[in-house]
Amino acid sequence: MALYSIGGVRPVRDIPVPSGDSRSRLVDSFGRRLTYLRVSVTDRCNLRCLYCLPAEAHFPFGDRDFLSPAEFEETVGTLVDMGIQRVRLTGGEPLVRRDILEIVERLRRLPGLEDLALSTNGTELPRLAGPLRDAGIDRVNVSVDTLDGERFHQITRRDDLEKVWRGVEAALEVGLDPVKLNCVLLADHEPEDLDRLVELTLARPLAVRFIEMMPTASNEHLQAGQFRSCDWLRERIEARHGALEAADPPFRTGPAKSLRVAGARGTVGFITPLSHTFCKDCNRLRLTARGELRLCLFADRTYPLRPLLGDSAALEAEIERVLADKPEEHMLTAGDYGNLASFMQIGG
Ligand code: SAM
Repeated sequence: MALYSIGGVRPVRDIPVPSGDSRSRLVDSFGRRLTYLRVSVTDRCNLRCLYCLPAEAHFPFGDRDFLSPAEFEETVGTLVDMGIQRVRLTGGEPLVRRDILEIVERLRRLPGLEDLALSTNGTELPRLAGPLRDAGIDRVNVSVDTLDGERFHQITRRDDLEKVWRGVEAALEVGLDPVKLNCVLLADHEPEDLDRLVELTLARPLAVRFIEMMPTASNEHLQAGQFRSCDWLRERIEARHGALEAADPPFRTGPAKSLRVAGARGTVGFITPLSHTFCKDCNRLRLTARGELRLCLFADRTYPLRPLLGDSAALEAEIERVLADKPEEHMLTAGDYGNLASFMQIGG
C-alpha cells in the first residue's frame, strides 16, 4: 500500500448527499439508508487509462464468468425489493458485454427501480446509444479526460477520441438526458485542456464533472506527483469566468454539487473524495460482475452473493447481515485503499 501525498489538502467533511428514502430496509450501523447501487457487469475494458489499469492488463475472465442477465436480474431485484431505488451499470466497460441490452431490459422491468443509468467510456455509444435508450437506460455518464487527440492517446493508450465524441453526440441525439462527462484530474493535466472541457458547457447542455484521482494499487506510478484538487480547478475556472453559480442539478444521485458559469447552458461539478469527503452521507452499495457485494469502494473485502441465488430468503438475510460491516468512512487520505487493485474491478 502506498502513501498518497495529497499535497497539504486537508479533507473537509462538508458535502451533503441526498439522503436515502425512508422506505429502504437497507440501513447500516451508522443509520445511513442505502438506495443507490452501482453494478459492474464486466471487468473487461477496451481502453487502458493510465490511472485505472496497466498497459499490459489482461483479462482472464469472460462474460460466462460473470453473472448472467438472469442472475443480475435476481440479485439486483432482491436489492431493489429491499430499498435500492437507483442503479448505475458500470465496469470495466459495460458496453463490451455482448448481452448488455438484455441486462438493461431485465433490470428495467424491476418494479420499484426509479432510475437506470450507465457509465461508459463512450467508444461503443455511436452504435448503442439508441438501442440502450430503447432497452430502458435513462441517462449516461461518459468518461472523457481531454478533448485533445494526442493527449487522449497518452491517457487511454488508444486512439478513440473521435469515436467517443460521436458517442456523446449520439447520446444527446437520442435523448439520454442529461449526458454527463467525467474527467479525472491528473497532476500533469494541461490546465488549458481542462479549460476546454469547461468551455463545452457554455453552449451545450452537458454536465461536465471533475473527479479527484483516487489512489489504487495500479496507479502508484502517478501518486508521487503533486495532487490536483478540485479546489485548485474551481479557483482557476472562477478566475477565468467569474464566480460559479449554483445550478439545479440535472439529476443528482451522488456527491457532485451542480454549478454553472453565468449564462452557460451546461453545468460543472466537482467530485472530491480526497479534499472534501462525503462518506457521512454515503447512500451506496456496489455489486461486482461476479456477484459479490462491496460495501465501500475502498473496503478490504467483498461478500459473495452468487451461491445464494435461487433462495431469496437466504439472499436477503445475507445482505442484511453483512450491512453491519459497512465502514463509517474510507481511509484514502491516510493512503489506505483497501484491496482495490484498480477501478476496473468495480467501476468507481
Ligand atoms: N468504462 C466505464 C467508464 O469509462 O466510465 C466505467 C468504468 S470506469 C472505472 C468508471 C469511472 O471511474 C470513470 O469515470 C473513470 O474515469 C473513473 N476512474 C477510474 N480510475 C479512477 C481513479 N483512480 N480515480 C478516480 N476516478 C477513476
